[in-house]
Amino acid sequence: MDSIELEIAREICHVPDSCSVDFKDYSSLRATLKKRGGGYYFTVAKEFKNTDISVQIGLYCHLFEKLFGKKFSEADSYVKVYKKFIKSQKAELITDHLARLNGRDVLIDKGKFHNLDRLLNQVCTAYSISFNGLVSYSKEKSFRRLGFYDSARNRIVISKSLDDERVPPYVVEFVLYHELLHSIIDVEFKAKRIVHSKRFKEAEDKFKYKKESDEWINRNLSKLKRRSLFGF
Ligand SMILES: [Zn+2]
Repeated sequence: MDSIELEIAREICHVPDSCSVDFKDYSSLRATLKKRGGGYYFTVAKEFKNTDISVQIGLYCHLFEKLFGKKFSEADSYVKVYKKFIKSQKAELITDHLARLNGRDVLIDKGKFHNLDRLLNQVCTAYSISFNGLVSYSKEKSFRRLGFYDSARNRIVISKSLDDERVPPYVVEFVLYHELLHSIIDVEFKAKRIVHSKRFKEAEDKFKYKKESDEWINRNLSKLKRRSLFGF
């Protein structure tokens, strides 16, 4: 049976033939489409499963458009969402993470200033959360996206920008706490996909230094970014 996203993409691009999608472990956010016999076969990086429905529809439409060499007006808005996602900081962090996992650079970075294992242990103990996945810093310094939880592999990735002596440990703990919550609180599906549900936000408010962390991030992140890029 097709996925609902593929079903919608088929409708939009008027594809009557059978289609199937195979999710694979890739070292990047790769996706391909091939025509074989009477059907169409997608091979897609596993990570797309966790993206927004519109991103997935856009991905399928984009590949149909490429294969057929024509555009479908109805597909336009979805393809835009997909392209925006691919260029986003989140996609950058995922790609970075995948490259580390599957490429030659498999080293897990626990940090120079803030050791992630130690901080993760502290947060898990303080908030009674059990987490048996892995944690690592990203290779690139992302300043907009400070972390993400990769549910496909049960891993937390923290932006390398936080491994800095000027960043208070509670800020790193807060980002870890936020991503830990993603590992235990399911995404809600109502009219749309709700990643930070009411339940999620209530749980997040329980973090002791939530206010301080938010304030610190708002006040200092742009400064840190400027220093890292321009050296002042
Ligand atoms: Zn989040």
